[in-house]
Parts: sequence; C-alpha cells; structure tokens
Amino acid sequence: MRFYIHTMGCQMNEYDSVKMAGLLEQAGHEQVATPEDADATIINTCHIREKSEHKVASLVGTFAELKRRRPDYVVGITGCVAQGVGKELLAKSPVLDFAIGSTELAKVPAVVEGLRAHTLAKVLADDVDRDPQTGKRNREALHYPFIAPDILPQRSTVSAFITVIKGCDKMCTFCVVPYTRGMEVSRATDEILAEGRAHIAHGARELVLLGQNVNGFRASKTEKPDFAGLLYKVGALEGLKRLRYTTSHPRHFDEPLARAFAEIPALCPYLHLPVQSGSDAVLDAMNRSYTAGDYKTKIDLARRFAPNLAVSTDLIVGFPGETDADFAATMRLVEEVGFESAFVFKYSPRPGTPAALLESQVPEGVKAERMTALLKLCDDLQWTTVRRYEGQSVEVLVEGPARDHASRWFGRTPDNRPVIFEGAANGGAGTGATPDTVDLTGMLVDVTIVKATPHALTGAVVAGGAPVLARAA
Ligand code: SF4
Repeated sequence: MRFYIHTMGCQMNEYDSVKMAGLLEQAGHEQVATPEDADATIINTCHIREKSEHKVASLVGTFAELKRRRPDYVVGITGCVAQGVGKELLAKSPVLDFAIGSTELAKVPAVVEGLRAHTLAKVLADDVDRDPQTGKRNREALHYPFIAPDILPQRSTVSAFITVIKGCDKMCTFCVVPYTRGMEVSRATDEILAEGRAHIAHGARELVLLGQNVNGFRASKTEKPDFAGLLYKVGALEGLKRLRYTTSHPRHFDEPLARAFAEIPALCPYLHLPVQSGSDAVLDAMNRSYTAGDYKTKIDLARRFAPNLAVSTDLIVGFPGETDADFAATMRLVEEVGFESAFVFKYSPRPGTPAALLESQVPEGVKAERMTALLKLCDDLQWTTVRRYEGQSVEVLVEGPARDHASRWFGRTPDNRPVIFEGAANGGAGTGATPDTVDLTGMLVDVTIVKATPHALTGAVVAGGAPVLARAA
C-alpha cells in the first residue's frame, strides 16, 4: 500500500507525521510524494488557527473526485482537529474514512489496512478510556505512549526533531492545546538519548528538542521540571554539533537553563520564549503566570550567560479586554527586549476555551490596526538586527543544496537564520563549485555575508576556508 501524508501546523505535527510514516513503513507500506500516487492519504491536522475545522473539511472534500474514480482509496485525518471534532466531520463527510486523535497515532497502520481490506467501516479513534458513567475522557488516557525511538525517517536529515514532552498543563485561557493534546507527559530520558543517537548515526548533526512546553520536561512524574539536566545529557552525545529546543514557557525558564547556554558547547544561542503580551492585566487574564517584568528579568538572565543570544517570541493582539494602554505596554516591551523575530497573531476565539466566553471582545478593526502597528515595529527591529550581519563571517551548518538556486547551498547560522551561499570545499568564494561537484551537506562552513534581509542571509564561503566537519557516512 502506498500512502501520502499532508502535514498542517507546527513542528510537533511534522514530528508526528514522520513517526506515522515510520510506523506505516515498518508495516511494509511505502510513502509517496503525491496523493495521486497513493492508495491512502492522511491529513495530519492542526487546531491552533481560526476556522481550522472548515479548512480541514474543505481539504478532505477535494478528495471526492479521486475517491469516485478509485473507490478503495482511503482518506483519513489525524491530530488535533481529529481529536476535537473528528466525530462530527466523519458524520458529515462521505469522503472521510477515519479520524484518529493525537493520542492514538499508533493505530494508524491497522486502521488504514482494515479500511483497505474492508474489514473496517468508518473509524473514529478518540474514545478510548472514557468514563462509562459520565462519558468524559479519563485524563490518564491522554498520557499516551511515545512512539518507539527506532522509528526514524528513511531519508536522513542534517537537522532532526525529537519530541521530549507532549501536551500542556498551563491552561492559557486562549489555547486549545490542553484539550487536544492532553496534559504534559515527559518522555523517558533513555528513549530520548536513544533516538538522538539513532539520528546522529543516520547523518544528523543538529537535534531540535520539541514540546508544547519543552522546558516543563521532568525526568519522572514525581520530580520537578529539569529540562537543563536533559540538555546536558543530549548535548554530550557524540557527533552532535548543534542543539536547539522549542517552545519554552517563561515560567520554567530559570538560571540552570540560562547557564546551559554558556556551558553546553553544542547549544545554539537562540531562545524562542513566547511572551504573548506586555500588559500585566492581559497576561493575568491569559493565565500566563508571569508579569512583563518577570519576563524581562528572565531575558536579562539569559543574556548574562549568552551575550549574543537571539530571542524570538509569540505575541497576541486584541485579546479580550485589551485596552490602548495594554497594547502600548506590548509595544514598549517589544522595543525594550529587542526581539530578533516575532510571530504576531490576531486574537480569535477558540470554541471551548475560557477566553472565547469573555464579553469584552475587541472589535476586528481595532485588532487589525494594532496588528499592523506591531508588525511594523517588529519588522523595523528585524531590519536593524539583520543589517549587522553584512560583511561578517558566520558559521553555517549546511543542510543541502539551495532549493531554488542550483549552484548554491542552504544552511543555518547558530541563531537559526537561513543562509544561501556559494562555496567550494577547499577553494573559496566564487570558485564555481556546485552541489554536483562538492557535497557540503552536513558540514560546518564559515560564510561571509554579503546581503542580509529578515528572510535570509546570502553570501559566499570565506576565501580559503574549509569545512570543519566531515559528513557522516
Ligand atoms: S502554554 Fe498556554 S499557549 Fe502554550 S500550549 Fe500551553 S496552554 Fe497553549
């Protein structure tokens, strides 16, 4: 059976898709690049944006013609939308064959096989372990197992994701994650290290540790969060050149984590720490459990240990009750911290979340104005920061040939900036080496930046420079 996976949403979903592909491949099936070439399509959905279920429903609808021509074709959804409204979508859509929530991805191969063999009809897999009296889901049921560390993508990548914690206990009033992904559950340290070693053996040089609240990681249920302890262990893996993590909650960002930037050579000087708002009143209404002052203190602490730290963040404008003064506080905080980049979102109510019930919703026009002003400020800050790269030499981990530039390479700086550059292994700038002649994939090279924009840096290998790391076999 050939399968195609369409992934929506965040890096956690990308990771889950890789794991699902691994499970299906282990069961003898083949991943293909287009739905037309497949016998089954799985849409791994995300619930974080507005109208996500409508988007999923209309995407599923586009398979009607394919299913008409090939009645055995299987179409299914997994992930957060499947978890939240899978039952309703299954009832409404004649095209959809299954909906499997985020907690039960391990069931995908058996379900797809059963549907193909007509031993199963429409399948909804989100209802394990419900209390027979109340019909409510047993919270423990959300403590689903992580898929085994030996399932890796068949193609090795220079940079690999590893999920170390799933779910979220923080109950921010605007967010659906605690309802769709369940409560926080950390993965066993041994499993994480085993998966890290396996990725490195497959050619990875960078590991990115993932979690909705990655720094809430605990070595065991009874211990306090100790994500720094995990970083030291992963950072010591042989062959690892770079280590990153995302996404962190300010509540768990502490001195050991700040110190780790100075003490773990592989740990990149990059921190994504969502602040969401600069107003204490809004932060309180969001149930974020810190003030703007607390946040700035944590950034100062991080910069004490890593003076060149790049900090990025998430911001929401127009949260219910946000006044002009609250918004001005956000603008102030953004300037004071000097974020390298920011993801700005306009608040939109998510059904079932406490903030959606608040009466003080901000009018759309006001939200749009605030969004424009904040985006402009973030843009101006980004331009100021990136310009300093021009003329500088930066270390780049090469991920492969640049996609749209046949004679150039693509990689990232330690602070996660994409770089497109020309280069040769032993020559230097302008020697005409191409991806066909010298393979730099997986190597660390020094690149002189010629042009810097917020989207990418462009440059050439430092004249006379040589890669500092041989690629793994
Ligand atoms: S910390 Fe808040 S915003 Fe982040 S996943 Fe948890 S509930 Fe959602």
